[in-house]
Amino acid sequence: MDIVLEIFDTLVFDKAYAKVFPKDGILGKALQTNIAKAASHASQQSEVAANFYNQTVAPQVDLFVSNYVPPSVYKWAVSLGSTSMKLLPSPTGSERHVYGLQPTYYFKPTEFATQSVFARDSIFRQSFSIFLITWIFGYTLYLLVAGLSYKFVYDPANFKHPKYLKNQVRMELRQSLTSIPVMTLFTVPWFVWELRGYSKLYYDADKYGLWYIFFQFPLFLLFTDMNIYFIHRWLHSPGVYKRLHKPHHKWIVPTPFASHAFHPMDGYLQSIPYHVFPFIFPLHKIAYVVLFMIINVWTVMIHDGEYLAHDPVINGSACHTIHHLYFNYNYGQYTTLWDRLGGSYRTPDKELFNKSLKTSAETWKKQTATMESIRKEVEEDDDDRVYAGEVDQKKNQ
Ligand SMILES: [Zn+2]
Ligand SMILES: [Zn+2]
Repeated sequence: MDIVLEIFDTLVFDKAYAKVFPKDGILGKALQTNIAKAASHASQQSEVAANFYNQTVAPQVDLFVSNYVPPSVYKWAVSLGSTSMKLLPSPTGSERHVYGLQPTYYFKPTEFATQSVFARDSIFRQSFSIFLITWIFGYTLYLLVAGLSYKFVYDPANFKHPKYLKNQVRMELRQSLTSIPVMTLFTVPWFVWELRGYSKLYYDADKYGLWYIFFQFPLFLLFTDMNIYFIHRWLHSPGVYKRLHKPHHKWIVPTPFASHAFHPMDGYLQSIPYHVFPFIFPLHKIAYVVLFMIINVWTVMIHDGEYLAHDPVINGSACHTIHHLYFNYNYGQYTTLWDRLGGSYRTPDKELFNKSLKTSAETWKKQTATMESIRKEVEEDDDDRVYAGEVDQKKNQ
């Protein structure tokens, strides 16, 4: 995320922080006097402690050692001490790439970069900036991609599906837009941890060789596919489902706006594999940003209800439609691999791939009957859904 933050710092934040929290402002001056005071207090204290040690403790230790410890044991203890010091890992501070302390990637910092109390390497500034960026970025990507998909891909015939909810799009939007900032808040520590240089994210393409540039993509896919499968399956265990995952299954016939309509903790848990990966495996910084964008687009795509390919490997829109209709199948992310291994794969109904059958009353009736019997098993009588069709029927009566 440091390459993203560098762009935003250069364009917006350096100037904004310099304006709101200038070095010579109230906060800057107060901090400077307090830091000076604290430093002089600390040096006084350490002087007192050093004097006490030198004058009182050290002579007693010397006396004890010379009277009671045989010279050979003393020598051995000293050598053991110095060896164990060598075995301890050396402080990694100098090796870590802390954002704001190391040279920049793309832009030479402007004069504003050094004019705020909160410098680029301030952990408070980094946390706040990355929160704002992720929030805005999350909203933009969601609204843009889901909006385009809704307008150009989604079939409005689905509004007539008996399981389409009253005010569904409005509810999906509300759930997504309230969840995204909360998910972002939980995500900030991961990003800040990266900005402080603790992850294995790297920039120099030669660092792990050309082969790894290509290899990291399938590795990332396998890692996240496996972990998301297990997290998603766990989210379907009865107690967890009721508390966390049910809001995402409110939508039996989702629209693209359902893609991010999760309980914030549900969305966050499913994103954890993405954050863990660069702490275990090296990952190129640009690949990381691109992979994040792709998964957000993919999440919208599997909720658009348009089934381009009947592919046995890819966990596409048809597979995820089955997940929303019949709950206990197709938990996967990009591929059907783990559903096949875990015995939860369900081949999408063949009607989904026939343009006229897809939205026929007959197909919807069949879907509804199967869906209701599974829904009863999963949710029992706990169902607050109000379907658009029911409301219309009541109006007509
Ligand atoms: Zn689910
Ligand atoms: Zn979904």
